[in-house]
Amino acid sequence: MERLPVRQIVMPTPYAVGPVNAYLIEADPVTLIDAGIDTPQARNAMWLELHAAGYFPESIEQVIVTHGHPDHYGLIAEIQEVSGATVYFPAREIERVRDKQMLFQVGKLLVGAGMPLDLLFKMDQERRRDPHGNALRDSEVVPIEEGKIFHLQSELGDFTLESLHMPGHTGGHMVFFEPRTRSLFAGDQLLPDTSPNPLLEPSLDDPSERRRSLKEYLVSLEKMAALDATVAFPGHGDVIEDPGALITSTIEHHSKRKVRIAGMLSDQPRSPYELAQQMYPNAGGYDVFLSVSEVIAHLDLIVDDSDAVVTERDGVTYYQAT
Ligand SMILES: [Zn+2]
Repeated sequence: MERLPVRQIVMPTPYAVGPVNAYLIEADPVTLIDAGIDTPQARNAMWLELHAAGYFPESIEQVIVTHGHPDHYGLIAEIQEVSGATVYFPAREIERVRDKQMLFQVGKLLVGAGMPLDLLFKMDQERRRDPHGNALRDSEVVPIEEGKIFHLQSELGDFTLESLHMPGHTGGHMVFFEPRTRSLFAGDQLLPDTSPNPLLEPSLDDPSERRRSLKEYLVSLEKMAALDATVAFPGHGDVIEDPGALITSTIEHHSKRKVRIAGMLSDQPRSPYELAQQMYPNAGGYDVFLSVSEVIAHLDLIVDDSDAVVTERDGVTYYQAT
């Protein structure tokens, strides 16, 4: 089976998720999929790896970003400055990252999930101390939509990368599929060591509404399975040699998690925050956000199964078993 001329670049991050990957495709144009995080440690790792492959930051001709999290696009501004590379960014992720209202809307969603206000303020302060998200402000990006095709030429042959909108982890997440080698650049939509968190976010179509992130994610996984990729390059962790099996086990993980959360419901109304506290009693800071996201995402499925009913009191949504 043919392989893409691709190199994994692993960079450290200060986040709990651990190291993040970018991928160098040694073709014309010289292409980078994702761009690490804006820290000296990540920059060193990226520059060293480029040198090891016989390149310089100046050699990069295009950067293609999977989603708008600072560990995936942190170095775009710097790379663009030294190389003049074109940076392609999922259109809907640009909206999400640049829209200051979004954070306010996420805060509102967390209050609606029962999170105490003092905890929300603490989380917001922590976020403000995280200086890693400025690259999108300082660079010029070209928005991309579903169906955008990138052409790559190399000594190994000509390749194409097809852009596919696959929401889930975030609302505007894109993956890139190379049909000849059946290679998939999966971003954070498929991870070998952990299941991607379907994040609590406002709907991109109606910011006053919540995105049904896990439902979107499960649809994306089905779409991803249909690609029948033979290799997947994830945003974190090792290259995935059997994407189909990982997709199946990820779907199973969520269905087990759904059963577990459904089992925590009773005839007493409980908020997603209370349920998240019970599941992850030691979570603090940003992890509280992740745990509430996870609980709400699964509650959507449980309500769809008619195993829970929703009530609202004082702006907080409660769930109880049927
Ligand atoms: Zn990530």
